[in-house]
Amino acid sequence: MQIHEAIKPAQCLSLALLPTPFHLLERFSASLEGPRIWIKRDDLSECSTSGNKIRKLEYVLAKALSDGCDTVITCGGLQSNHCRTTAILAARLGLKCILILRGNRPNVLTGNTLLDDLTGAEIQFHETKYYQENLTELLFSAQQKVLKQGAKAMIIPTGASDGVGAWGYIKAAFELKNDFQENGISPAAIIHATGSGGTQAGLTLGMHLNKLYTPIHAVNVCDDAQYFKDKLKDDWQHWQQLYDPQKTVDLNALPINVIEGYVGPGYGKAGADVFEIIKTLAQLEGVILDPCYTGKAFLGLVEEIRIGRFKDANDIVFLHTGGIFSNFAYIEQYNK
Ligand SMILES: *Cc1c(COP(=O)(O)O)cnc(C)c1O
Repeated sequence: MQIHEAIKPAQCLSLALLPTPFHLLERFSASLEGPRIWIKRDDLSECSTSGNKIRKLEYVLAKALSDGCDTVITCGGLQSNHCRTTAILAARLGLKCILILRGNRPNVLTGNTLLDDLTGAEIQFHETKYYQENLTELLFSAQQKVLKQGAKAMIIPTGASDGVGAWGYIKAAFELKNDFQENGISPAAIIHATGSGGTQAGLTLGMHLNKLYTPIHAVNVCDDAQYFKDKLKDDWQHWQQLYDPQKTVDLNALPINVIEGYVGPGYGKAGADVFEIIKTLAQLEGVILDPCYTGKAFLGLVEEIRIGRFKDANDIVFLHTGGIFSNFAYIEQYNK
């Protein structure tokens, strides 16, 4: 990465299989009669730890190790891809992992939760309302308990989205620059799902540091545009405090584009249109999306093309952020 000399990149572990593939969705593009749709395959960033979270965790876990932690604590929904990735990477690095999950313990563990359990992570299940009202306390009390046992734990925020985790997608922006050059394209937009904001924060910052001004359009799968505007600014400020003390980057000049309208029935819930687009892409291209994140973002991409948002575009890039295992938590909808 060629970055301004006043900016000192964070330490990074090599855990993901990078660079991830980048290719054209030939048959899908033809079926759309619109711009060419390219895909960045971060769903292929590894096997069991696939998806976008491993990129952020390469930096966050490097910090945990250099801080002398032997335990990591993190949190998320029952089918959190972030928690699954953290639990598996912790096992890979010989760290203990504590997961604080939102939702009651299901009778049968499936998808990501099944994998969490396989790693031997200590899993706490908390009823949704209780989780929402007490999350900070739950994280701190888990950390205190570890400390009393003579160990040291790092708390990793939801989605590993903070100033440290932002490096994962700063680095990915440099990878994308290469992908564009190799394919001789200069895309009109990059589209991806946003949930805890870290992918969008890193990618937007990475584009700026790269002097590659491809607009990033993030499709929110929860909350609203204002939430992400605030969240990205928080993450950027945290990043600047840690790595850009001379403030060479003007954070106020960074663009934040959120495409609203695709949350559907709510976070983690999907309508028939999402399952439909997942099936279409699986059939035409052999690419598997998920109902919680990438299915909604891809539906957003298709709908926005239909209503003319990208009417002058020749090339558009979809960033596939992973999530394959959560499909198994939607077995009933798939078997309807
Ligand atoms: C977490 C996640 C996202 C959202 O990324 P954030 O960095 O949390 O905004 C998108 N897609 C998948 C599959 C995810 O697991």
